[in-house]
Amino acid sequence: MEKFKKLCSFIREAYSAPEGFIPLHEPRFIGNEKTYVNDAIDSTFVSSVGEYVNRFEEIMCEITGAKYAVATVNGTSALQVALLLAGVESGDEVITQGLSFIATANAISYCGAQAVFLDVDKTTMGLSPAALKSFLEDYAQLKDGVCYNTKTGKKLAAIVPMHTFGHPVDIDSIITIAKEYNIPVVEDAAESLGSYYKKQHTGTFGVLGAFSFNGNKTVTCGGGGAIVTNDMALAEKAKHMTTTAKVPHPYEYTHDMVGFNFRMPNLNAAMACAQLEKLEEFVDNKRAWAKSLSGFCLENDIDFITEPQGTESNYWLNALCLVNREQRNGVLEFMNKQGVMCRPIWTLLFKMPMYAHCYRDEQINSQCLEDRIVNIPSSVII
Ligand SMILES: *Cc1c(COP(=O)(O)O)cnc(C)c1O
Repeated sequence: MEKFKKLCSFIREAYSAPEGFIPLHEPRFIGNEKTYVNDAIDSTFVSSVGEYVNRFEEIMCEITGAKYAVATVNGTSALQVALLLAGVESGDEVITQGLSFIATANAISYCGAQAVFLDVDKTTMGLSPAALKSFLEDYAQLKDGVCYNTKTGKKLAAIVPMHTFGHPVDIDSIITIAKEYNIPVVEDAAESLGSYYKKQHTGTFGVLGAFSFNGNKTVTCGGGGAIVTNDMALAEKAKHMTTTAKVPHPYEYTHDMVGFNFRMPNLNAAMACAQLEKLEEFVDNKRAWAKSLSGFCLENDIDFITEPQGTESNYWLNALCLVNREQRNGVLEFMNKQGVMCRPIWTLLFKMPMYAHCYRDEQINSQCLEDRIVNIPSSVII
């Protein structure tokens, strides 16, 4: 534990916190948050209509390079609506990775679809193109341009890769395979705002992408999400579906489908606009902190996870890869006791009772990472 004791001191020094608790990821409100939120209150537009919601969508387009962005109440609802727009229907199957936050699988379930859990790559911690290819070769068949699982007879309606801790997945390979089988890709980019794959922003490779602005993410507005796409028709539908599917009219209330009340309130959007002004600065700060941690780990023979080749990660959460589960448990116990918060990666999704019946491959890399990955403090250093 000697080197992890040193690591605790190193982290304390970086955060100028010789004692007390150091959280995993704290938000920083050091910009225009209060000004904009007060302005939203003064305007009386605090709910789902307001200038900040529109501005938030414009800024998201500028940042990601996507043609359209639609604001939602959280990342989970953004993913759910993105899946519906990609054509996911009740009874379908949706391919995703076995190692992700629960929201990825939940969003699939909300559509009435069933998750298919495939393995991840060790280098990206995201969906493995090899696992995807192997699954599709064994199970998939195209019929009139629609891909079906030959064993279950169900439609393989979408593929949902997730950019774990902000590190981009091998999205080019995934898109290439998906095209071959005519399956739409919806990116769970909840963790990867400010992360780039070959200079292109994550979330913009698939037909739709979903982002989160939850309190623990790189930038936050308390709760919030966004759908991005380059398809105008999908963007229009996204806005329609997330705003109760009301048919535009000066005063009549008519709705043409079962829509959702998923639009981001203007109050949250005000905060989001202020936070997005800080995104570049925050990401630079986090990347510098990750670099410094990486150097420390190299000197002390600890395996620190770095961004995959050809990508630029936002380093949302810094991660160590320990030698086995025993060491992982020891480090979690030791560092948390020292007041330096650390946390294991998620329990694999198929281990949750509600997803135990879903198809899964061998999950070898996922299990290896579940046994070894620990997140350490990653907040922006001020
Ligand atoms: C945070 C997160 C979400 C959901 O975002 P919320 O805004 O909390 O609903 C979805 N997927 C992943 C991988 C996440 O980390």
